[in-house]
Amino acid sequence: MAVPTELHPAIRQQGVLVVDDSAVQRQNAVELLRSAGVNRIFEAVNGVDALRVAHNLVQPPAIIVLDLEMPDMDGIEMVQQLAMDGLRSSLLVASGAEMAVMDTVRTMVETLGLPLLGTLRKPLAFGDMAGALAGFAEAAAGKGAPRCDEDAGIDVEALRAALADGRIRPYYQPKIRLDDGRVAGVEALARWCEADGRLIPPAAFIGLAESSGLIGPLTLIMLDAVVRDLCAWHAAGFYPSVALNVSAPSLSERHFANEIIGRVEAARLSPSALVLEITESALVADLAGALGTLGRLRLKGYGLSIDDYGTGFSSMQQLSRLPFTELKIDRSFVRHADTKWRLRTILESAVGMGRRLGLATVAEGIETAAELALLQTLGCEYGQGYLITPPLPAAALMPWIASEEQRLRTICA
Ligand code: C2E
Ligand code: MG
Ligand code: MG
Repeated sequence: MAVPTELHPAIRQQGVLVVDDSAVQRQNAVELLRSAGVNRIFEAVNGVDALRVAHNLVQPPAIIVLDLEMPDMDGIEMVQQLAMDGLRSSLLVASGAEMAVMDTVRTMVETLGLPLLGTLRKPLAFGDMAGALAGFAEAAAGKGAPRCDEDAGIDVEALRAALADGRIRPYYQPKIRLDDGRVAGVEALARWCEADGRLIPPAAFIGLAESSGLIGPLTLIMLDAVVRDLCAWHAAGFYPSVALNVSAPSLSERHFANEIIGRVEAARLSPSALVLEITESALVADLAGALGTLGRLRLKGYGLSIDDYGTGFSSMQQLSRLPFTELKIDRSFVRHADTKWRLRTILESAVGMGRRLGLATVAEGIETAAELALLQTLGCEYGQGYLITPPLPAAALMPWIASEEQRLRTICA
């Protein structure tokens, strides 16, 4: 990782707090920080001491380098207290604790919503510290995937109007083959596109659509757009499979399967060009309804994917009862699986299960080359994620493939 040529101004102004009960380890961290150009450094011997130091500063430290095992107040307790006090320093956990504990702490910090620069094993080396400081600059610069506007103040009437005006449309996220990087299909993801260019993400309106009875119309509007886009792609010689997300209430609707079948037949598309993604938890609600709807769709030749696999309660049972063709592993098992061995183990067993059942295996949320390499090693067939690309508007898909073909081959080589 690159050594930051210039320190982020926040680090210079607010400084770094090193919390460790071992004087030797503390000294080591302080020296590394000095070598990296940090002059404003505070020290504390345990959590109580650290909170006192942090609260006495006019501005909280930009970064807290934190040991876990300490007398009086340990690192975990201290992180919980930081969150309660609303202190949002970036954390760099440096500990000799076993890996499972480090993983747990990492998850806890993320769940509390505190910025985390990394979890490292002691003794720290210069590269660790320089990497963490560079990471701070990156996080502060807001690098990462484009964000949507989640706080749009939406009610049922606004949603109804957006559906009627055609403002809810699919964006498409490519799904690539992990052995050669070729685009095998795309997933349609709903976006609410405002006239001023704002994009409202599905998290802001799918729940409302489900509870207000608008999810049926929404799904069919998405399907109509998918059918149109598929026909246009076919005309241009591109034959991807398209995945459409289906919510629980739709599975209980007796006519839902007919609506899909009718539209796809009318457009003279093969049912196998469509994959219906159903979230695990959706199946628990009304198993009889789901069996009927999914059974009929599968009989017609539609692909069926179990989405967010691993997050539901009775995955195994669902897999044994329903005619799935694809298993889509939730991104919570993919993210960091290359560094967290427990996640890796779960991921490995999910891929193995999918393969043994003869299902296509797809990993969601691939963000790094290391995660992609691990999935290849585990034999996962397909992947989606920001490393490949965030979802794209329909018109951008083919040009994107043309320009990215080479990069995709390279990242999968
Ligand atoms: P999902 O079906 O599991 O879709 C994957 C979500 O992960 C998408 O979020 C996608 O943009 C996001 N994603 C993809 N790659 C990455 C990555 O590398 N990192 C991260 N952090 N995220 C990644 P999105 O589009 O916000 O959709 C969220 C959920 O909303 C979907 O989860 C799906 O359950 C639901 N949804 C979206 N469109 C529809 C729809 O038309 N109908 C229904 N019923 N649900 C939909
Ligand atoms: Mg999905
Ligand atoms: Mg998913």
